[in-house]
Amino acid sequence: MFTIKGKTTDWELVIGLETHIEVLSNRKLFSGASANYNPTISPNTQVSMVDVAMPGMLPVLNEFCVEQAIKMGLGLNAEISKKSKFARKQYFYPDLPQGYQISQPAEEPPVVGRGWVEIMGDDGKPKKILIERAHLEQDAGKLKHDVHPTKSFADYNRTGVALLEIVTFLDTKNPENNSYITSPDEAERYLREIREIARALGVSKANMEEGSMRADVNVSVRPVGSKEFRTRTETKNMVSFKFIKSAIEYEARRQIEIYENGGTVSQDTMRYSQSEGTTSVMRSKEDALDYRYFPDPDLLPLEISEETIERIRSTMPELPAATRARFISLGLNEYDAARLTESTDISKWFDTAVGDKPERAKQIANWMISELFAHPENWDIKNAVDTSNQGTARIITPENLAELVDMISASEINGKQAKEIFIKMLDGETGTPKEIADRFGMKQITDTGAIEKAVDDVINANQTQVEQYKSGKTGLLGFFVGAVMKATGGKANPALVNELLRKKLS
Ligand code: ADP
Ligand code: MG
Repeated sequence: MFTIKGKTTDWELVIGLETHIEVLSNRKLFSGASANYNPTISPNTQVSMVDVAMPGMLPVLNEFCVEQAIKMGLGLNAEISKKSKFARKQYFYPDLPQGYQISQPAEEPPVVGRGWVEIMGDDGKPKKILIERAHLEQDAGKLKHDVHPTKSFADYNRTGVALLEIVTFLDTKNPENNSYITSPDEAERYLREIREIARALGVSKANMEEGSMRADVNVSVRPVGSKEFRTRTETKNMVSFKFIKSAIEYEARRQIEIYENGGTVSQDTMRYSQSEGTTSVMRSKEDALDYRYFPDPDLLPLEISEETIERIRSTMPELPAATRARFISLGLNEYDAARLTESTDISKWFDTAVGDKPERAKQIANWMISELFAHPENWDIKNAVDTSNQGTARIITPENLAELVDMISASEINGKQAKEIFIKMLDGETGTPKEIADRFGMKQITDTGAIEKAVDDVINANQTQVEQYKSGKTGLLGFFVGAVMKATGGKANPALVNELLRKKLS
């Protein structure tokens, strides 16, 4: 169900993403030129004769890029095709001198076939998003229009660098199969999951700001309960989570409005305006180009052996889904496990804080999710959360949080004091939690004698309530606990206070 300005509508969203990740490799997909096109490198210095299509130059497939694709495919729980082909996608690209892009045609098996990734659905439960395919293709170069007032320039450094395009699957034969993205938030979680898998595997930096991850966003809407998918539009080349979410929102609202006014949505390619947060038609599918895939006569079919796949499989590190399962086995619920695996940085932070004490896990998770996520300026995790307001705030380390949690468990401080220490750290107080506790005299009173005295005082001063308690109003216990805590300046061990009160009042 899609909501517009807090109001739920009778419409639901259907979203398909085509995500391009730039493959990490020293060399380009079909040439020996360096694949480093970093903006600090002079234009047109990382270019081979193959990249600029000099006559007679032949492409040679870079085996390492293929291995990277296989690795990512395994990370996507996908089938790896034993045999796949390359074809030329005809198009005039001023920044791809071949005049075509070498890609893997849609009609034939690509190197990576059907797979899935697991994300947290909007209901907080794990949800499988099906992947249709992932294929290798060449990136284009970059056109520069801002160097000269009347001339444009082409930089071919990126020309021919390997891309892996990952396409989500829509099961049109079974429209009730809900294994696709259905909201802007799920789109973001899916993209983050792809990013984290790619990073964990070293397949791509998958960094949207740098352009090493980009997505084409397909959106359609349909009435809730409807059995068919409706016409979708495609917004190309999106490079930020924020803009992708905003484009989906806007596009969904636009389509719903068209339907509600009795119109029909046409299958258009849209352009997104960052300043307006709106989409507009770039070209309609009527004049969409027929790319005419030609088999590439210079390239043999790509054959991958079972041994190669198994060799790569044996080197796979722990992926986010496995990390989530491990966190659940430490006693976290699914929601917490999902939040703590939103990025490898976060899950590593959690693992460091837990260290070799699994009994800390639940408490560490609680503090991270309810406190640290809300204070990104005090957290040394970039990308994971919005750190735009990061100033000179003090950073809270995994060791700090572990110490704080241990102090509570050891009854050195109570929960209230822990919170005070935490707030002091947020406010820039230096030192470890222990040092801060000492500095401010925040020791929990666990000395039974001292607590007993406070308990006796409270009982003597509140005889009326004591009578009421004894005649059955046991709900008054909280009143006594509060009074004792107050008398001890919040420092008493609450468990001991409870125990002593119960004993003395019975
Ligand atoms: P194209 O070749 O035109 O890019 P594809 O069939 O490859 O189209 O689909 C591209 C993406 O669009 C896929 O992720 C697919 O799941 C998604 N998609 C297809 N139909 C719809 C629809 N009706 N609504 C939303 N997404 C769709
Ligand atoms: Mg497409």
